[in-house]
Amino acid sequence: MRKTLILSVIFVVAMGATLFAQPISEQQVQLPQTEEMAEATGAEGLLYMAEEEKLARDVYLALYEMWGNRVFLNIAKAEQQHMDALSAVLNDKEMDNPIETSEIGVFHNTEIAKLYDSLVAQGSTSIEEAFLVGAIIEDLDIYDLQRSIEGTDDEVEIWVYNNLLRGSENHMRAFVRQLDRYGLDYTARYISDTELSTILSRR
Ligand code: ZN
Ligand code: ZN
Repeated sequence: MRKTLILSVIFVVAMGATLFAQPISEQQVQLPQTEEMAEATGAEGLLYMAEEEKLARDVYLALYEMWGNRVFLNIAKAEQQHMDALSAVLNDKEMDNPIETSEIGVFHNTEIAKLYDSLVAQGSTSIEEAFLVGAIIEDLDIYDLQRSIEGTDDEVEIWVYNNLLRGSENHMRAFVRQLDRYGLDYTARYISDTELSTILSRR
């Protein structure tokens, strides 16, 4: 048990070094890359997902400050619960918990930090863009959660990820409903069109 833990810590440190060594490429705001997630499984995936849930909470809090729309506040509260769930898993595994101590808008993962800045900037241009940012975050979250589920054998992690996935699907429906009020459609960027239609057809 102890040996497994030590091995996972070594794994995290090794993966972390690799991730931070990667150059930051220029990207479109609308198309953040998720190559890191492709490599991130197990312990590293857990850390990545924890910060991604924090990304969602922090962006929605920033958008609530800007626009005062309660949809952002309500969903930010749900994201706090998602963070708490992943914090519990991290603490249970006696892993470093990056989301318990870092301030709003501050991230250990440089890619996520960059995403935070670009998404908040995009969401500041209009309320429609703010709701679009919400849909983009949930799209990314659903995509990464699905891959996290595939990437682990840990039953507790799978259970938690599945719960977060259901929450993200609810949030996606809420943001798409808001966009619809402005006569806007959302086109999936990470998950497939079919998956998006299936999610939107559920209640
Ligand atoms: Zn979430
Ligand atoms: Zn969400």
